[in-house]
Amino acid sequence: MNLTGMQIFKYLPGAKKSEGTNCKQCGCPTCMAYALKLAKKQAQIQQCPYIPQELKEKFNEASKIQQHEIKLSETLLTGGENVMYRHDKTFVNPTVIAISLDSSDKNFDEKLEQISNYEIERIGEKFKVDAIYLTGNNIGEAAEKIKSKNIAVISHDANDTSYVIIKGKNIDAIEEAAAKAIAEGKKDIVLELEYHQPLKKIVQELTLIRRAAIIKRHEPLTYPVMVKIPENINVYGITAAASVLLCRYANIIVLPFFDAALLSSIFTLRQNIYTNPQKPLQVEAKVYEFNEPDKNAPILLTTNFALTYFAVAGELESLPFGSYLVVTPSDGMSVLTAWSADKFTAELVARSVKNFGLLEKVNTRKIIIPGLLSHMRDELQEAMPDWEIVTGTIEACQIPEFLKQE
Ligand code: SF4
Repeated sequence: MNLTGMQIFKYLPGAKKSEGTNCKQCGCPTCMAYALKLAKKQAQIQQCPYIPQELKEKFNEASKIQQHEIKLSETLLTGGENVMYRHDKTFVNPTVIAISLDSSDKNFDEKLEQISNYEIERIGEKFKVDAIYLTGNNIGEAAEKIKSKNIAVISHDANDTSYVIIKGKNIDAIEEAAAKAIAEGKKDIVLELEYHQPLKKIVQELTLIRRAAIIKRHEPLTYPVMVKIPENINVYGITAAASVLLCRYANIIVLPFFDAALLSSIFTLRQNIYTNPQKPLQVEAKVYEFNEPDKNAPILLTTNFALTYFAVAGELESLPFGSYLVVTPSDGMSVLTAWSADKFTAELVARSVKNFGLLEKVNTRKIIIPGLLSHMRDELQEAMPDWEIVTGTIEACQIPEFLKQE
């Protein structure tokens, strides 16, 4: 764990009122200011001549790498995590999703084409297969073809990778093999935990490996971990296994074959887990137009929480007529959260409608608010006396039916 400013401060003269208290030799006005800077890595431990040995040792421990970040290609990184749980801060590099492909397969080109053509878009982000785990007798030529599609190659046999893959049947075997590789001077390592145990046991071992890295900083286990899911499981079992491994704690998951539905589920889950909790996904606050709306088209209202926006936008796009969607600047919060945090007030809605130039686009003065905010109707009516405020649906999927009845 990194030390906080308060944890550092208690070792300094300022906390003990001993010699040196607030002496400014470190360049900071007080010991507390220095402690805060040190915690943020904006100062060096050598700047204070009164640092006790115990704090120096704690700093040495804290400066050890928790999990190495390994470059799988020019653009694909794995590992580099420094917390056990996303809510502690955030996760860094999304789990790499790779597909196993045999370079000797007579349908290699066709399969590669299928994999490279796969793409889904969700909440404004596009997802493609990150890497191919390559096996077989034709690695060199196959690797070139894969790279030409901007897909990374992972292989035990490729000569041009900058990292080595260390395999083991369990955590003990991996630890021993990794310690040996480190002693031989290997720096960039990917650990492969083989799928030879029940899934529950694999997840337990992945958790132990991640704890050993993040909390104990135990060098042989501070590398990203790959798990290959075997193909003798049906696609539902593979989906379940990949989902669990994504949550706990595989850095690279190799799927045994291409399956578009499986990938869609996994990418959706991955997006949820790797969204930075401190930065909610949000879209631009403005008036969005769907299907070339005319001046009498219906007008709906929501916040700029990306998930809400894309759910509503998907429904409005599917309608056979045009519509407007007013999206308020609500710090990327969902409607109820925004309302409870004062980020979706009647004044804000009235200001948004006015400032976004909606009045010039439409003749109608009727606006549909989210069903979850029906309690705001009177308040909104007061703030927008020229408008008819209509309570809409709770779920986005109910919008088409609702608009047909309006
Ligand atoms: Fe405090 Fe050390 Fe800075 Fe002096 S040099 S103010 S003792 S932190």
